[in-house]
Amino acid sequence: MKDSDTIYALSSGGGCSAIAVIRISGDCAFDALRLLQGSLQAPGILAMRILRRSDGGEVLDRAMTVRFASPRSYTGEDMAEIHCHGSRAIIAAIIEEWRMHRGLRLRAALAGEFTRRALLAGKMDLTKAEGLIDLIEAETQAQRRQALAQSEGVLEKIYNDWSERLFALLCEREAQIDFPDEDLEEDGLDGLANERSPQRIVSSRMAEQITGLREEISAHLELADTAERIRSGVAVALIGAPNVGKSSLLNRIACDTVAIVSSRAGTTRDVVRVRVELGGLAVDLLDTAGLRKPRSAVEAEGIRRAEDSARSKANIVVCICDARKPDMDALSIDGKTRAYDFLLLNKSDLLSVAARKRISDTTSADGNLNGSLKGNLSTFLVSARSGDGVGDFMEALKDKLQVSEQPIAPTRARHREALTDVRESLLRAQNEKDWALQAQGLRDAHAAMERLTGARDIDALLDKIFSDFCIGK
Ligand code: GDP
Repeated sequence: MKDSDTIYALSSGGGCSAIAVIRISGDCAFDALRLLQGSLQAPGILAMRILRRSDGGEVLDRAMTVRFASPRSYTGEDMAEIHCHGSRAIIAAIIEEWRMHRGLRLRAALAGEFTRRALLAGKMDLTKAEGLIDLIEAETQAQRRQALAQSEGVLEKIYNDWSERLFALLCEREAQIDFPDEDLEEDGLDGLANERSPQRIVSSRMAEQITGLREEISAHLELADTAERIRSGVAVALIGAPNVGKSSLLNRIACDTVAIVSSRAGTTRDVVRVRVELGGLAVDLLDTAGLRKPRSAVEAEGIRRAEDSARSKANIVVCICDARKPDMDALSIDGKTRAYDFLLLNKSDLLSVAARKRISDTTSADGNLNGSLKGNLSTFLVSARSGDGVGDFMEALKDKLQVSEQPIAPTRARHREALTDVRESLLRAQNEKDWALQAQGLRDAHAAMERLTGARDIDALLDKIFSDFCIGK
């Protein structure tokens, strides 16, 4: 597999469709197009063409085709797109023509290979490429907005600016090492210099710039949680004793939520996961419905572990009880009250009017039931059967998860870790008195920044990042 090979892929989804898009990139891209359609139109012109077998005979399809000449293409190479009818037979025939033709050296593209080439050709940085991956995978509107902004370079712009500022600081410090004023001692970048010698003034200005940079990075990192939540979704665990109605509630919520994005197999055998869209966020509801009354100590341990696993994965924990007997024992482990975000008293339809009133009266506005539950609970009387109260609970859940605005922030752990490294290296540089060690700190910070944008160590990162990417992009 060489980066210089000409590659092709079906860039639209598989299966039969009205239209399919086949993409081809590399030195032979235009020859491959010419082989099927005869003459070539000017670059950038979408033209209707008849595609024929290369011996000039049988018509394969009538298609719209376009070509983009290097470097003005997505990959920076010569590229062509064929928008043909989306049948398997047509796609297979086109690819077969290319494969049969001795003069053409083409191969099927690997996952993400077009974007990888775009990256290597300097068409985009790594954060933009990651934004594209996220955009293709976006399931919710908040994910789409965030990924689109990233693919258009909001993070790239900020990181390039920081990288340039770091580089300027590094050059300045290195210049002083190379051409020192012999009479002056080295000094710190702590901004405490009080002698107004030229060197001291430089150090104090550099200290200010480093502090400024660290503060900007810290403010940016503070928003990372929200951005990562938007990107990866939020997990809500439904916890409670067997038969209180966890799976019934899960089904009710899944049916009532308009945009059910997908339903997935459980993360463990006992935990069922259903993904819904709530307030623009992807929300995974984790249900320990598979956990039934333990018949043995071993089973009880299994249940405890599955429940712990659901809880540890969850950003929000919802405890469910039977409203007829809000079981205080079920709410505590080892006598300690557990921390829940919400308490749902289910099966309200089975309550008498008097019992319902009693519960309503004892559930105070801040959600503490009868004062006997500590912690920050919000209590709702619900019925999975009739749907009563479930809407109110969903509204409260939505409010709790609400992302007020779209942050411009790191969207992946990779970004967060690199930026934390940058900040730590800067702090290290500031704490040093020795210029050479200050320069080393600045160099490390700059290197971490370059790894973030993909300007350095790109090969090590590419395979990992592009392994999630779809073929044809
Ligand atoms: P889980 O073990 O906690 O998942 O509980 P299930 O969802 O399997 O429910 C246990 C039983 O309670 C089933 O027979 C359900 O039909 C019933 N159930 C669940 N929710 C309600 C409800 O709101 N009202 C009534 N009347 N029955 C319910």
